Amino acid sequence: MASTVRSAPKPRLEDYLLQTASRIPPGVTSPDCCPTLGFWRCGWKRKCELSKKQTGKKLEKCAVDFANNNFTREDVAKVIEARDGSINLRTLDELYQQLIFKKIRVQGYNGLVGELELVKEDCHKQGYSFGSVELDRQILNSSTDELIYEIAGRKIHNVRSWLGFKNGKFVFPLPLPKQEPREYHLRASGFTNTCHLARIIGKIDRDALQKDIIEEIMPNKYSVIGTTRHKLANQRPWVDYLRETSDRLPKIWDYCENEIFCEIKNTDRKKGEPDEIVLSGHGDASFVLTDGNPDRDIIINTDYKRGKRGAYEKPAYILRGIIYALGAANALGREFKKGIVVHLVKRFFHGEEGDRIFPKYYLGYASPENYDSVTLDEFDAAKKRIVQASGLENLAVSTYRMEKIILENKENFLAYKDLAQQQKFCFDADMPEEFRECFNSDLCRILAQLVLKGVDIEKRYFLPGVVI
Ligand code: SF4
Repeated sequence: MASTVRSAPKPRLEDYLLQTASRIPPGVTSPDCCPTLGFWRCGWKRKCELSKKQTGKKLEKCAVDFANNNFTREDVAKVIEARDGSINLRTLDELYQQLIFKKIRVQGYNGLVGELELVKEDCHKQGYSFGSVELDRQILNSSTDELIYEIAGRKIHNVRSWLGFKNGKFVFPLPLPKQEPREYHLRASGFTNTCHLARIIGKIDRDALQKDIIEEIMPNKYSVIGTTRHKLANQRPWVDYLRETSDRLPKIWDYCENEIFCEIKNTDRKKGEPDEIVLSGHGDASFVLTDGNPDRDIIINTDYKRGKRGAYEKPAYILRGIIYALGAANALGREFKKGIVVHLVKRFFHGEEGDRIFPKYYLGYASPENYDSVTLDEFDAAKKRIVQASGLENLAVSTYRMEKIILENKENFLAYKDLAQQQKFCFDADMPEEFRECFNSDLCRILAQLVLKGVDIEKRYFLPGVVI
């Protein structure tokens, strides 16, 4: 494929270090904000009058229909039939319930509040907008330049132009085959939390727990906002939602939110431990940067995130991206010898109220020899201090062992909880006020009460498939 890339200005390190939230970048037709949803940057033709004027075309269904629940079980049944080849009523029910926008109870709110209303309010207050996964792909393929840096240890290395890095290659969706359910030990998302109890909480079946307790488990509003933002970006209740973009593109569910498993060897295996630690997770989207030669393909993992402004990304996000990409390669039975791009689409905590800032892209490249270079601040409960740890095997095995110790008996569980409090994991004074308290604090307290009563939370409340 011939290179059509214009020569890009040489990126400067200070540009990277001083990066701030970008507005819709030049080089891609700036999608306007949707007149109805406001925060939504519609990347393609809609059925509204504005869009019709701009494009002369219209879609029968758009994000507004999705957000307003203008879809039926029959629509979702068609999605399942196209995806799975047949309709399973339980799957239909689950997906329908997952897709509709609901009114729910949330911590800090009296009565019911709409998921979509929470997103609207948050977008307005924090001044951001966003679009779909397909828009993000189009921007990556456009002549818009970004900076990409090399993932190798803790420092920012070798900052390059994204256009130069692409060098004529294009970003395509990477459909992943559906994985059969299987046993796993850890969730890849857990590494985002330094607290090991928070990692354990990520494996709790909240519905099962709710059935056994009187206290209502209410989600944190920012968790709901994050899930809803994802839903709008990378899920659809219609088979033909992207039809006008291109018939040749895989369907959104083939490359978004697919379950992956990543096996990490446990070479220094102790008695009773598995030969490999299996990590599970759902990548937001899988793409491939390709020029048509599979030997040169680079796998891309896209993740929608929210974080503090800052040049250096939270290393756990990078690690997660690498794990998801390795799991995706695993699902495909392929090796991507040229490496992995971690693509974070980040909203920030603080924008100006009423602004419509587009998320900032963060791009990091890891060659296979650097997959192990990401260094996390891990809590060593034996030393009672934070230590720097790196290496996929080291991180996976030490997390597995720590969780096993915590779950061994109630004394360990409660002692760890005390330690976490002393370490100030439960309350981060550096964060904006609403984000200071650990989002898992209610669940953590409820589980500690159950553990104190002698309940085996691992046996009773771990999600199906989790083993320890
Ligand atoms: S409340 Fe504290 S101990 Fe519990 S999960 Fe959160 S950070 Fe960990």
